[in-house]
Amino acid sequence: MFDKIWLSSPHMGDEEFSFVKNAFDANWIAPTGPDIIGFEKDLESYLENGVHVTTVSSGTAAIHLALLILGVKDGDEVICQSLTFVATANPILYLGAKPVFVDSEKDTFNMSPELLERAILDRISKGIKPKAIIVVHLYGNPAKIVEIMEIARRYDILVVEDAAEALGSSYKNQALGTFGDFGVLSFNGNKIITTSGGGALISKNKEWIDKAYFYATQARDNEHYYQHSEMGYNYRMSNICAAIGRGQMTVLNKRVAQRRANFYFYKEKLKEFKSFHFIEESDRNSFSNHWLSVAVLNGIDPNIIRLKLQEVNIESRFFWKPMHLQPLFEKYDFYGDGTSEYLFERGICLPSGSSLTQTQKNFLVQNLKGILKEEEVNSIT
Ligand SMILES: *Cc1c(COP(=O)(O)O)cnc(C)c1O
Repeated sequence: MFDKIWLSSPHMGDEEFSFVKNAFDANWIAPTGPDIIGFEKDLESYLENGVHVTTVSSGTAAIHLALLILGVKDGDEVICQSLTFVATANPILYLGAKPVFVDSEKDTFNMSPELLERAILDRISKGIKPKAIIVVHLYGNPAKIVEIMEIARRYDILVVEDAAEALGSSYKNQALGTFGDFGVLSFNGNKIITTSGGGALISKNKEWIDKAYFYATQARDNEHYYQHSEMGYNYRMSNICAAIGRGQMTVLNKRVAQRRANFYFYKEKLKEFKSFHFIEESDRNSFSNHWLSVAVLNGIDPNIIRLKLQEVNIESRFFWKPMHLQPLFEKYDFYGDGTSEYLFERGICLPSGSSLTQTQKNFLVQNLKGILKEEEVNSIT
């Protein structure tokens, strides 16, 4: 029996350990230190476009701080993509604000610009202008970010771009995470690069990034004693995690190439199956890191595939369950046309780690082919 084939495992390069050892040798075992500065600089030069970056303890913390700095308060409304991981939406509740969910569209599987505009107009007609918009680049695939930014500017609403899954993806060669008023990255263990846990906040506005650091450091006033005029948080990244991050930055481009190679391998090997439709970039300006290789099934229950793969020790997963269908968020308004529900019922995420071996990928394809052949026959009869 093979070792379990995981969906998306951490993948260390050759340098992470020596960065961590240097941090130990210099005793920078703290939420401050040279590796944090170094990692932030690495991210700034990778992302380009004149952005500033502050690292934090998680992607969720980064979204929380972004909304806080954009002025989201108790009772405000925040528009949020429905098809996403719950971490995108939870920070809206932390601030006592109300999410308003918007559906996906069929080209990118991310936020629909038309439904976004419909939601904005409807909220305005009800006398409540949304305070912010959170758009997500799901599975690394670029959302229609240019249209969404245009709409947001037209109505003068600020945008948080959740690029937690999309480091290494771009639109017109511009890195995702640099389009919004704030961009967010995650370095959780399953992401394209990891610091075990961590996140980053991106913005062209240096004052906002300084403000984010201030709130992430218990909102400590600039005094020689501990004075606090505002409520803060303990959201800083550990220097040890940042040391891992510096090592991971040296292999980021490789990781993107490896994840993309997984995707094209699966797509080629499974092209004969009409029931299996891989999700790709929607136009030639979009470049996806293919963090996960995802497909939509036609006429086959994704749970059958998931269970049959599990029997041979292969992990696969459903798409994120849309937020407007979650018990936690049921009572909030939703503007939709059924797209995210359609995707949730038919989508499947395949093992996509950059450390998968060719043998593992062949084993997956061989099993998947067997399952699909059997199920396609069943779905016809
Ligand atoms: C992983 C993820 C986050 C949050 O990241 P954490 O670092 O785990 O807090 C936010 N949004 C999306 C879409 C994610 O996939």
